[in-house]
Amino acid sequence: MATHDAEVLVVGGGPAGAATAAFLARAGMDVLVVDRARFPRDKPCAEYLSPQASRVLSELGLLARIEGAGAAALRGMRVRAPDGHEIRGDFAASHGFRGFRDRGLALPRRQLDAILLDGARAAGARVMEGARVRDLQRGAGGRVEGLLVEANGAVRPLAAPLVIGADGLRTVVGRRLGLVRTGRFPRRMAVVAHYRGVAGIGDCGEMHVDRAGYVGLADVGGGITNVAVVVPWGDAHRIAGDPARFLAQWLAERPHLAPRFATAACVSEARAVGPFNQRARRAWAPGVALVGDAADFFDPFTGEGIYAALRGAELLTGYAFEAARARDGGRHDVALAAWDRCLRDEFRGKRLVERAVGTAVAFPALLNRAARVLSRRRDMADLLVGVTGDFVPPGEVLHPRFLLSLLFPSVRPSDRPPGAASPSGEAASGQA
Ligand SMILES: Cc1cc2nc3c(=O)[nH]c(=O)nc-3n(C[C@H](O)[C@H](O)[C@H](O)COP(=O)(O)OP(=O)(O)OC[C@H]3O[C@@H](n4cnc5c(N)ncnc54)[C@H](O)[C@@H]3O)c2cc1C
Repeated sequence: MATHDAEVLVVGGGPAGAATAAFLARAGMDVLVVDRARFPRDKPCAEYLSPQASRVLSELGLLARIEGAGAAALRGMRVRAPDGHEIRGDFAASHGFRGFRDRGLALPRRQLDAILLDGARAAGARVMEGARVRDLQRGAGGRVEGLLVEANGAVRPLAAPLVIGADGLRTVVGRRLGLVRTGRFPRRMAVVAHYRGVAGIGDCGEMHVDRAGYVGLADVGGGITNVAVVVPWGDAHRIAGDPARFLAQWLAERPHLAPRFATAACVSEARAVGPFNQRARRAWAPGVALVGDAADFFDPFTGEGIYAALRGAELLTGYAFEAARARDGGRHDVALAAWDRCLRDEFRGKRLVERAVGTAVAFPALLNRAARVLSRRRDMADLLVGVTGDFVPPGEVLHPRFLLSLLFPSVRPSDRPPGAASPSGEAASGQA
């Protein structure tokens, strides 16, 4: 039998990799995480965690530490449409669904990701920081058997029965296997920074949409506001020279935002990231499973990515265990193909909601129309925000009557939005 450096090699120590490593180490596996960065490290992100992400963090035994690190608690979301109509939805609402927590959380990724990786170590995983994966090692029939890793100026091979690609949107693991395809949408990019002193920041996350893109604002604790502007790819050349300047100018050009930034100061580097139009065709190949952004990237608007990374890690554990300990290649492949189906099934509904929201954001007239309805129908807005909070089933807002009543206010959903169970019904007990 070949000599292995670990039972599972995890490429990437972000939320997906750290959580996967922690779950597998807890299940008794010998896991080695390899990340090119040294933690704590920054990551461009709006830094919002859905109420249901707290359930997975609690499962990992890390929720109290994250809350104790000064994470802001977010009551819900406010969305401003291009024509100024404002939608407000809360996580705790009268629709009868309850999340694991009634609030979302927001914490700088520098802190969050370091806590998650510490959690993986505490669970028994080994971690190599400052180690960049350059390539995959393959055996008979192209089956992946390990990695080529560059650390401290030297390249060394690492071998394992299973490699997990948790290396984010630009996944080297997925690209080397030809699993990543570049789509037409969303060809957007983002500039993200932390500001201090932004006026009017409350306990809701904010999204402000206009014809040239959108910006998310959220308290991330310690008096800091996360500012994340997402714009069409066409702006790349303006951003490239000086992202901080682009961001300041973008905000200054918006009359409803500029006064709020009049005395605010940017207190971090402004980081640019994108484009986002990459998806994996499938989340496995012989010897490899993908998880997190490497497997499935969500448009930042719905704030789904970290939950998807954590939930994906949780779901992957059983399949990865089976694949890594399988006695033959056939069983190994069956376990990984089942992982792919499980991942698609889990996020199918959220993917449709993401597409619907993405379409509305791309066509301002559509969003204005929906916002006019939602600004008057708080029950519908709460339901939509609950879906982004990962505790209301997506089917609640994908129901044809919900969609129709968004566009044609004369089509009234019943007093309770369509499909929602009564508070005394089954769904009222929550989706935890
Ligand atoms: C502008 C923007 C705003 C967002 N806002 C939100 C939000 O508010 N809420 C939310 O839930 N999601 C948000 N997301 C999505 C979220 O950031 C991602 O979904 C999340 O980071 C995915 O975690 P991950 O572990 O899969 O990947 P990552 O967090 O990207 O981690 C990947 C890790 O792999 C390492 N790595 C990469 N390549 C290699 C290599 N070759 N060798 C070794 N290591 C490597 C990296 O150093 C990194 O540590 C946002 C995304 C963007 C772009």
